[in-house]
Amino acid sequence: MSSDSKTPDNLSVVRRQEPPASATRSLVTPIFPSVVFRAEDADALDAVYEGRAQGYSYAREGHPNASLLADKLSWMEGVEAGVVTSSGMSAISAVLLGLLKAGDHIVAGNQLYGRCLRLLTKELPRLGFEATLVDASDAAAVAAAIRPETKFLLVEVVANPTLRVADIKGLAKLAKDRGLIFVVDNTFTTPRGFRPFEHGADVVVHSVTKLLAGHSDATLGYVAAKDPAHHQAINDAVVTWGLNASPFDCWLAERGLNTFELRFDRAQENAKALADHLRGLSGVKLVLYPGEEDHPDKALARDLLQGNYSHMVSFELAVDRSGGRDGVNRFLRAASNIAFAPTLGDVGTTISHPASSSHRGLSEEERLSLGISEGFIRVSVGIEDVELLKREFTAAVAAMAQGEN
Ligand code: PLP
Repeated sequence: MSSDSKTPDNLSVVRRQEPPASATRSLVTPIFPSVVFRAEDADALDAVYEGRAQGYSYAREGHPNASLLADKLSWMEGVEAGVVTSSGMSAISAVLLGLLKAGDHIVAGNQLYGRCLRLLTKELPRLGFEATLVDASDAAAVAAAIRPETKFLLVEVVANPTLRVADIKGLAKLAKDRGLIFVVDNTFTTPRGFRPFEHGADVVVHSVTKLLAGHSDATLGYVAAKDPAHHQAINDAVVTWGLNASPFDCWLAERGLNTFELRFDRAQENAKALADHLRGLSGVKLVLYPGEEDHPDKALARDLLQGNYSHMVSFELAVDRSGGRDGVNRFLRAASNIAFAPTLGDVGTTISHPASSSHRGLSEEERLSLGISEGFIRVSVGIEDVELLKREFTAAVAAMAQGEN
């Protein structure tokens, strides 16, 4: 059957149609699920690859939803360009894979996200890299761990879950003096709370999965480097190792960012109020919220974060006389309106128990050396009515204490 017949032949059924030309444009970003993009001819493709024309070729190398999200995040971090990846872990992996070679050494904070600690101590040695973990709030301890083969420093501004604060200014100076690449994970603080490039960071990473995307429905990361050569090496690692993000996840995150500032401000306000409230409950031994008087790094927190202590609160339940794990379980069951879920940054408040989730891979001794006891609870505070949150936590702490012996 010919192609100009009224009944389409197989060729025209399979061929993709261009959308109709229109005098109007959609308000909302479209999703581009296409794995591949067409070019007019080989010269046009050359122009895209050589950066002389805007366009795409193959989605692993880039696609419109990733570019739109990366541009927004780069604008928030105050940097020229960044790359979106499939998770926060893949953003960190892209930095390692892009910037290190076998034999290189890393100095990293000893209170990083648990899976990141595992990457540094269990995975990297298999590939010929080595990492030394130190207290990132102590620049002298970090300096003492630097070796001739040290290539970079990796820290979180506010560490997970103990909320210790890194000496970013001291470490930035150290990295500059010793010719090291300074990599900062800004997940907990977010660019609304802190902008690491303004304080000497060379590379910034995020788990976009958290407060930036904000709705626990997209797993994503972001990485940006100030030096274009670093940016290129990291981007090449993303494309070659296949660390790219899906269009749908990017679309969700870009949509989530529209309300990010409102969510951040409300969650931060709630977190401060909840920390103050928890401090008054008799079943709570210790409350950690970065800028407060009893926080071990309050001076660093105040200087760096200027009041933006973000949405995370950690505390220690007094479970020693309340059955240890049984007391923790009573607390979690009684807080039934708050999700017990090992994530953070959701619109709703979530509780996590690091000893049974993020830090379960560590021995009890290793956990205790970080201050993570059985009763240690981390709260990612959401945007609910804070009075409801206070009531829920009061009841849950009381339920924990009921088993006291
Ligand atoms: N960095 C920090 C500070 C985190 O808390 C997490 C996850 O919780 C990650 C990185 C890893 O992010 P993802 O879970 O998106 O891989």
